[in-house]
Amino acid sequence: MTATNSRPIGVAVLGMGNVGAEVVRILTEGADDLRQRIGAPLELRGVAVRDAKRARGVDPELLTDDPAALVAHDDVDLVVELIGGIEPPRTLILQALESGKSVVTANKALMAAHAGELSEAAERNRVDLYFEAAVAGAIPVIRPLTQSLSGDRVTRVTGIVNGTTNYILSEMDATGADYADVLAEAGRLGYAEADPTADVEGYDAAAKAAILASIAFHSRVTAEDVYREGITAITAADLDAAKKFDCTIKLLSICERFDDDGVEKISARVYPALIPLDHPLATVNGAFNAVTVESENAGRLMFYGQGAGGAPTAAAVMGDLVMAARNRVVGGRGPLESTYASLPAAPIDRVQTRYYVSMKVADRSGVLAQVAGEFAKRSVSISAVRQDGSGENARLIVVTHRASDRAQSETVAALEKMDSVIKVSSVLRLEGTDE
Ligand code: NAP
Repeated sequence: MTATNSRPIGVAVLGMGNVGAEVVRILTEGADDLRQRIGAPLELRGVAVRDAKRARGVDPELLTDDPAALVAHDDVDLVVELIGGIEPPRTLILQALESGKSVVTANKALMAAHAGELSEAAERNRVDLYFEAAVAGAIPVIRPLTQSLSGDRVTRVTGIVNGTTNYILSEMDATGADYADVLAEAGRLGYAEADPTADVEGYDAAAKAAILASIAFHSRVTAEDVYREGITAITAADLDAAKKFDCTIKLLSICERFDDDGVEKISARVYPALIPLDHPLATVNGAFNAVTVESENAGRLMFYGQGAGGAPTAAAVMGDLVMAARNRVVGGRGPLESTYASLPAAPIDRVQTRYYVSMKVADRSGVLAQVAGEFAKRSVSISAVRQDGSGENARLIVVTHRASDRAQSETVAALEKMDSVIKVSSVLRLEGTDE
């Protein structure tokens, strides 16, 4: 196709922060290549920011603090939303879609909460809505799921999709340092925000799990459907104990389809979990992200790379922008999200999990049998037991086989009430095993 004489495609970029500045740079520096690949030149019509008076290495004439007016320009065909948060991005994206303009966004919070409304607007107006950068930064995972695997049946998606928490857990594992010290260090190095809540409490990973589950299982899953636990309670002792079971601890976003008493359902969940050291996700360290996808015919695929940062995220945004621009040149649009399957999201207690329970116990005979009895009462079978220390420091660690999360958590509640259990110090799940 050599439609390089097609009329220019006007682009509005909303937001010129970490990601937006890199998108503007690539748009400018790569203009010639982009024109060849698209078949028409991309022309930057304007950049919306909060403070349009601040110099930013872009023609000041292009800057505006009125994103709605920029979106409304007749010569804007494509809108790239890189402001972040729910409003004003939601209203601006709807405005663009309703006026027949395709949209590219990196906004996970928005897509996790409002994908339905936005996709319907894109569908109604027969335009594209792309969001590759919303999950795992530079790593192509949305397009493999929506396109490359669209002829297969995805059964499970497991990801390390939050770089901040992966950095913290990797550092705790490598150095033996405590959570608070590593979090402070992550802040100094720019890996953690001043308010790290969205990362360390798992909200960011849950938003991404909702997006992944929606597209993997052709169903509508929002962040509210995702079970979530963060990493704030993980201790150096947990990582140390994990090593003794040939495991490490990672914050995982897990999306799976499963049979719940004859009804096919989806589980989307985020929690720190033990994974065996020989699992492919165990070697993903520092601020890197990775996603494994399991599907019936393709088997297991793994995607790995930089999950954040201005330039890596901008690379994913640019891929979407080129696709949307090409579609415009040929007069069509790409495949949209589909939600035909409408599988219901199941609560965590219906899911089959394995537990790792660490307890401080009284150092006297019979305790192990009593503890084992509580598991047996609820048909939770034990896979391994480890006893550490003695006297004041006696600690018992139990790892279970797969059982319903409800049976596992009820067992933990019962253990907490036992006289011989001084304290249940840590409860984690174990993932990535076949048992
Ligand atoms: P950022 O650095 O905070 O930049 C936000 C930009 O939006 C700034 O230029 C800001 O203007 C502008 N802005 C804020 N409110 C505005 C408003 N009401 N009207 C017009 N402009 C407004 O954010 P970012 O890190 O680039 O992130 C952008 C998006 O990418 C978010 O959805 C984020 O979740 C997503 N994302 C980011 C990364 C990453 O590594 N940073 C990775 C994946 C996805 P001023 O410059 O004047 O303040």
